[in-house]
Parts: sequence; C-alpha cells; structure tokens
Amino acid sequence: MTITFRHQIKELSPYQPGKPIEDVKREYGLKEVIKMASNENPLGCSPKVKESILEVLDSLNYYPDGNATDLKEAIAKKFNIEPTQVQPSSGSDEMVDLIAKTFLNEGDEAILADVTFPRYLTTTKMMGATPVVVPLKDFAYDLEGMKNAITDKTKLIWLCNPNNPTGTMFTEEVLLDFLQVVPKDAIVVYDEAYNEYVTRKDYPHDSIKLLESYPNIIIMRTFSKVYGLAALRVGYTIASKEILMNIDKVRGPFNVNKLAQVAAITALLDDEFLSKSYEVNKEGKEYLYKSFEEMDIFYAPSETNHIFLNVGKDCKEVFLALQKLGIIIRPMYKTYIRVSIGTMEENQKFIAALKEVLK
Ligand SMILES: *Cc1c(COP(=O)(O)O)cnc(C)c1O
Repeated sequence: MTITFRHQIKELSPYQPGKPIEDVKREYGLKEVIKMASNENPLGCSPKVKESILEVLDSLNYYPDGNATDLKEAIAKKFNIEPTQVQPSSGSDEMVDLIAKTFLNEGDEAILADVTFPRYLTTTKMMGATPVVVPLKDFAYDLEGMKNAITDKTKLIWLCNPNNPTGTMFTEEVLLDFLQVVPKDAIVVYDEAYNEYVTRKDYPHDSIKLLESYPNIIIMRTFSKVYGLAALRVGYTIASKEILMNIDKVRGPFNVNKLAQVAAITALLDDEFLSKSYEVNKEGKEYLYKSFEEMDIFYAPSETNHIFLNVGKDCKEVFLALQKLGIIIRPMYKTYIRVSIGTMEENQKFIAALKEVLK
C-alpha cells in the first residue's frame, strides 16, 4: 500500500524563503552580510516593544488569550471601528490561508494577478478552486482585465495594493470603479501589507470606510513590514462581523502567540517609530531611484519599501554575484530583481556592489 496525498497538493511546491544571513556568512566566509530580500524594516522595531516583551516572559507557561482581546481593542481604537470588525492572525500569511478555507469550494473561481504575492495562488489551488490569472500591465495591476475575468463562478478576488513584488499601486478611483462591478456575493481580499509606505495622494488611504458600502471586502494588514515584527508573525484583518465570525470557525484557537500580541499593541502606538521608518524609506527610495537612473537601469515606480528593477542580466546570476559580496536580494524572473530599501548605508553598499557586478 502506498500513501496517497490530496490531489490538490500534487502540483504545489513549498515556499522558497530567502537564505538567512547566518547561512550566507558561513557559506562565503563573510563577516558582514546585508539582507535586502524580504522587505523587512531595516531599523528593527520600536524600542518600546522590547520592554513590553520582557514583561510577559514570566508567564510563558500560560496559553495566550485566544481572542486577542487587548490587541483587537487597540486596533479598533486606532482606526475607530468595533473590535468585532478586527481579527489578528499569525501574519497575513495565515489569514490568506484562513480566507481560502472559509470561502473556496472546488469549482469556484478565484481571480488573481501575475506577478503578485505567491500565497494567493498556492491557497487557491490547495482548496481545489480554479485560479483565473490576469497578467500585470506595465508592472501594475490591470483592474480592467480583472473586471473582464469575472464570471458567475467568481467567488474571490485577490488584490494587493501596493503590489509585491513590483511596488506599484492603483488609485482610489480605479478601485471604486472596480468594486462597483464586482458581484455582491464575491469576496474581495484587499491586501495592504505596505499601505503605511505609500506617498501618493490618490491612493485609497482610508480603505476602511469602503466597508460601509462594500461589506464583501476583507482588508489585510501586517506587523511584519513597517512595524518591524516579521519574526513574531502577527497581522490583522478588518472585515464585517459576519465574515469574521465565519473565519473564526476555521481559525486555530491560539493562533497569535502572547509575545506577538503584546509587541503588536506596543508597536501600534509608537507613531514616532513609524514616521522615522517612513522617512528613512522615502530617502532611501529617492537615492536608489537616482542611482538607477545614473546606471540606466529600468525600475517600476514603487509605493512600498522595495523596488522592482531590470538589471539586464540573468537575475539568478546577479543574485549569486551580489551574495558573494555580502548582499542578499531577491531574484524574480528573467532579468528582474527585487531589492528591499535599506538604511542609507545599506543602500550605498548595495549600489556599489551592483555596479561591480554589472561592470
Ligand atoms: C509581506 C507580505 C505580507 C505579510 O506577510 P506576514 O505573513 O504578515 O509576514 C502579506 N502580503 C504581502 C503582499 C506581503 O508582501
């Protein structure tokens, strides 16, 4: 007898994360390695987070609050909504999974872009639903194309704004125009992992107010990016009470650990750290843009903490050559790479290394 696996699993492959800094140091005998591969905050996290974590280290024997009541209340207060409209999760990654489990049946269609956050496709396939893939247009979401992809089988639409890996955004006007044609019984997952970094005014900065007119939207946000808490695995979702009550049925009972809950509450309130992170990112972006222009390198305009660029050489080769010089970036496809914006010092080292590699 041979073991069989769910047939939906067959064509999936495990997520390939970037190499950890320690591995690269060991492999290449390097003392210093800079990671600009996973869109983490180069400043770390709010210094207040460390103190708040120390306070709970003596009660690790107790399960965390499964309802994450304090965290829900802190988020609700910050955004002026009800705690019943908030659901924390173990990163947005987990929420993508929970949403798929809550809504997707075999035979349902789920519309998504290519290239975008890879978990949308994986979880869609995992549930046996049919992915309907709409290519990007000029490195940005093509919402007209996505409109045309809607059928009576459309159950879910995955949107990422701004997009990872391209960093591009679509405007509030384009989003509203799109929402008007989405059937009321289709779910729009609206992933805002990078919303805190957006500089453009025509971005839908107040997406929460859309829930009043469009109760079929699920807004996902994370503490992994601007808040600098990627290691703790915590994100939050804002949606209608009805949707969250159903997601709650498939959620693990203690999905957000205690350190993550406490850290997230503290991080949420440190506006000073947030604005510093925003400023460092903005300056870094301007420096990198200028350097790319001088080097005659094409890049997509970014509203995030990462930039998608065409290095004009095989991306894997460039990735390996940079790694040898102690800089980790993300090879994407063909001649495109994604680089996360670092501190000014890291950005300068990256540009120096890139010049060396492309020489
Ligand atoms: C980084 C990222 C997330 C967040 O993942 P976490 O699981 O919260 O760390 C979600 N969506 C997109 C598009 C991302 O880039």
